[in-house]
Amino acid sequence: MTATAERHVLGAPPPDDILLDVRNLKTIFHVMDGDVPAVDGVSFQLRPGRSIGIVGESGSGKSVTALTIMRLLDIPPAEVKADSEIWFDGKELLRLPMNEMRKIRGNDIAMIFQEPLTSLNPVFTIGDQIAEQVELHLKVKKKEAWERAIESLKLVGIPSPERRVKQYPHEMSGGMRQRVMIAMALSCEPKLLIADEPTTALDVTIQAQILELLKSIQDRTDSALMLITHDLGVVAEMVEDVVVMYAGQVVETGSVDQVLLEPRDPYTMGLIESIPTVDKRGGRLSVIKGTVPSPFNLPPACRFEPRCPYAWDHCRKVAPDLFQTDHAGQLARCHLHTAAGVGRREQALEVHAQAMTVGRDLRSQR
Ligand code: SF4
Repeated sequence: MTATAERHVLGAPPPDDILLDVRNLKTIFHVMDGDVPAVDGVSFQLRPGRSIGIVGESGSGKSVTALTIMRLLDIPPAEVKADSEIWFDGKELLRLPMNEMRKIRGNDIAMIFQEPLTSLNPVFTIGDQIAEQVELHLKVKKKEAWERAIESLKLVGIPSPERRVKQYPHEMSGGMRQRVMIAMALSCEPKLLIADEPTTALDVTIQAQILELLKSIQDRTDSALMLITHDLGVVAEMVEDVVVMYAGQVVETGSVDQVLLEPRDPYTMGLIESIPTVDKRGGRLSVIKGTVPSPFNLPPACRFEPRCPYAWDHCRKVAPDLFQTDHAGQLARCHLHTAAGVGRREQALEVHAQAMTVGRDLRSQR
């Protein structure tokens, strides 16, 4: 952390019913070619026991947001700007001494990564790895930690846990390893579980099982869940609230019903329209034209402007804030939701009526 960050005057902590409060998070990478603003002013809140989905394409900043919360980025080349704050359970994480942060990591916040094989240590048994974490965080004796490791394997549906606990990661399938990761994450009963694309590396049947497992465990343990994914189908299935990210910024937030059924940001509308569904079989799939902008050459105002079918001059000159939409609690980073955009907004909503039908299909599949 920079010296400036240490001098920064903190805002007040959030109320007790907010578990995670990310405020104006800005994470930059200083690399050979220049500075990459990977996360640029991201804010959202999560209540205890609730679930939130962070959605976006590759490079949107969703994983960097999670790694910044966990303080797992190398600083430098990363830098977290001084006016960023991350409040968790009454503590501001970015300014905690690293030894205190280590206690929170794995104990109060646990993270599940996309590829379990790279997150598990190949030279230790599954049991050793879970028991070590339990011993460290819960300060229990070795025997109790080992019993807890077996219990947590049972909880995630691993058959013969007494035998499996003595196996090494390479002796298990991808799905089993992901179950082990979940067991490890849950062994210390965290208040917050962060899952970063937890099913992307798995085949479709195992994906469904792992998602079902995550959901049932979250219900049972009352942990809050922050789920990072590019898959709106997973979002529809798993979470209550949604944050949509594009080029490092939040572009839309709201409840899962609001965002999937009545999206108000042209990027979210485009994402929903591009989902292949049964009723589109044989027809042309809609795609968002163009590509995500280079972080070294971002559009000067609205970052989605070069790809947006509703862009007008104003979008090229003035960067949009997150504006209140016509639904309470739903915000969109788009000038359509200002007085200047009223006529265009009606046109956009009409054109995207089809996208809303697709969102309804997704929700009805829950
Ligand atoms: Fe499109 Fe303009 Fe809205 Fe950006 S601000 S998403 S360019 S309409």
